[in-house]
Amino acid sequence: MLNITTKIFLSVIVIFFTFTLNANEISKERIHEVLQNAYNKYKGDMGGHNAKYIHALAVVDPTIFGITLVDKNGNIYEIGDTKKEVSIQSVSKVFTAALVMSEQGAKFVQNKIGVNATGAAFNSVIAIEEHGGSALNPFVNAGAIQTTSWVKAKDSKERWAKILANMSTFAGRHLQLNKDVYTSEVHDNKRNQAISMLLDAYERMGSDPLEATTVYTKQCSLNISAHDLAVMGATIANHGVNPVTKIRVLSSQYTPKIMAIMETAGLYDNAGDWLYDTGVPAKSGVGGGIVAIVPGEFGIGVVSPPLDKYGNSVRAQLAIKYIVKELGLNPLAH
Ligand code: GLU
Repeated sequence: MLNITTKIFLSVIVIFFTFTLNANEISKERIHEVLQNAYNKYKGDMGGHNAKYIHALAVVDPTIFGITLVDKNGNIYEIGDTKKEVSIQSVSKVFTAALVMSEQGAKFVQNKIGVNATGAAFNSVIAIEEHGGSALNPFVNAGAIQTTSWVKAKDSKERWAKILANMSTFAGRHLQLNKDVYTSEVHDNKRNQAISMLLDAYERMGSDPLEATTVYTKQCSLNISAHDLAVMGATIANHGVNPVTKIRVLSSQYTPKIMAIMETAGLYDNAGDWLYDTGVPAKSGVGGGIVAIVPGEFGIGVVSPPLDKYGNSVRAQLAIKYIVKELGLNPLAH
C-alpha cells in the first residue's frame, strides 16, 4: 500500500504532465473561431477565374467556398459550403501516387517517375524532352498519367476500380464521377494523349498510353467537397490511417514521401512561394480544391473555384495561409 504522501506526490506528477501535454493543444473553440474568421475575411474576395480550358469547369458556381479542418482524432471543424462538390482534378494525383507507392515501393516512384520540380507548366511537353523522357514528378500531368499506368491491374477497368476504391477509402465514403466534367474533358484531352504517347516512346508507361490517359481523366473527374479533402489530408497527416473511419489506407513509411512531393510540386509553379509562406505540404487542382497537411496533426480542405494565374484557388490559398498563421501550424517553425 502506498502511503498518503506518495499518493499526493504521484497525483501532482499526473496533473503536471496532463497540463503540460494539453497546454500544447489548440482548443476547439479557437479552431472554430479561426475558421469562422477565415471564412468571413475571404468570402467576398472575387479574385481569380474558373479554369476555362475544360468547358465544364468554366460553368461551376464561382461563389462556392467551404473550409474544413479534420484533426488526427477525427474531430471535424467546418464552415461554408463544405459539402458542395467540385471535380478533384490534380489533387487526385496525390492519392494515385500513394497507391503506386504502396504497390511498387518508394524507390520505384523516385526512379521511374521522379520526385523533382519541373520548373515548367503542369502540362508541359518540353519538360519531358529536356529531361530525357522523364516526367520528373507524379503531380504534373505527364507524371500523373504515368503513375496511373503503373497501378497493377489486368486491364483499364480493373485499374479504374482500384483507383476509385483507393480514393474513396481515403475520403471515407464512396466518391462519384462527375459525368459532365468527364465527358467535357475526355473529348478534349489530346494534349494529355500526346504526353502519354511521348512517354510511351521513352518506354516509361506501365500500360497502354491512351487507356491510361482515359483512366487518369476519370480520376480527375471524381467529385469531392472541402469536407472530403480534409478527411483525405488528415489520413496522410495521421500516418496513413483515416482518422474518421480508422481504416489504414497507406503504410506510415510512405506518408513522409508523399508529403515531400507535395512540398516540391504541390502548387504548380508556385510551390516554392507556398512553402516559404506556409511550410505545409499541399496539393491544388484546377477544379478549385486545395488539400493541405499539418504532419501528425491536421488535414485542411478548402474548395473555391476561381484560380490565380498558376492554377491555384485564390480563396483556398488565402484561407489556408490565414489558418496556418493564426493557429501557428507551420511545421517548419516547430
Ligand atoms: N485533368 C486536368 C488536366 O489534365 C488536371 C489539371 C490540374 O488540376 O492541374 O489537365
